[in-house]
Amino acid sequence: MTAISLENVNFAYNGSFRLEDIDLDIEAGDLTGIIGPNGSGKSTLVKLMAGYIAPDSGRVLIDGQPLARFKRKAVAQKLAVVSQGIHTDFDFTVEEMVSLGRLPHLGRWQSEGPRDSQAIEWALDITRLTDFRQRAYNRLSGGEAQRVMVAQALAQQPEILLLDEPTTYMDMAYQQEMFTLMTRLNQEGITVVAVLHDVNMAALYCKELVAVREGRIFAKGAAEEVITQENIKEIYGCTVEISRHPVAGRPQVTILP
Ligand code: ADP
Ligand code: MG
Repeated sequence: MTAISLENVNFAYNGSFRLEDIDLDIEAGDLTGIIGPNGSGKSTLVKLMAGYIAPDSGRVLIDGQPLARFKRKAVAQKLAVVSQGIHTDFDFTVEEMVSLGRLPHLGRWQSEGPRDSQAIEWALDITRLTDFRQRAYNRLSGGEAQRVMVAQALAQQPEILLLDEPTTYMDMAYQQEMFTLMTRLNQEGITVVAVLHDVNMAALYCKELVAVREGRIFAKGAAEEVITQENIKEIYGCTVEISRHPVAGRPQVTILP
């Protein structure tokens, strides 16, 4: 089954950038990595999938239904998004930030019930934030704050999780933990789509890779098909060597000085 489909999607900002002729199917249950250089349109693609922006032409389908016909709240019950760089001026604790993820499930003026608390506890636990729950969100490190935003998205209990650069501010250990978490969520049945800068981590953990270049899908497929010397040259303009990961066997990129 297809979780997200973009059919002949075109989108332009007021400036010069445009996403063109996007035909893309994200299969339910996959862990998909979106790679590509800065400014190639990865975040724009995620915003289209999330329904934050609407295509100028073509359409976006969620579980086979046009996204445009969903109510905002119905979208949020299916799909959660962790965007790049979320800041707040409010003095929320970690727990308060995570509980905001329950809003799509609450009626107006309705307070949290046991199902909400369970979801919040699960989200805190799976992201290893239980000990951080009383900490001030605004005073966390970049990597910790990113984990809180993932926990908030998970408190939504989505079927689909969209992550825009979830590992960018993370050290090696946090990155590994985040990829392990994405894998675990994926094994629990959540469709995960993540924009990733680190091509080697993407190749190591993702079932499918989508490479974006200048507003178009340049390549899509398994890491072996997408991560080739020629493709990396075309996508990033870098000359690299490709080798095999010594344990996992996936392709890995080495930059040549
Ligand atoms: P990526 O995530 O791959 O770095 P983006 O999708 O964020 O790329 O942006 C693609 C291009 O669109 C960039 O040139 C960026 O400057 C431009 N862009 C992004 N958001 C807007 C916006 N709200 N209005 C106008 N241009 C934008
Ligand atoms: Mg981006």
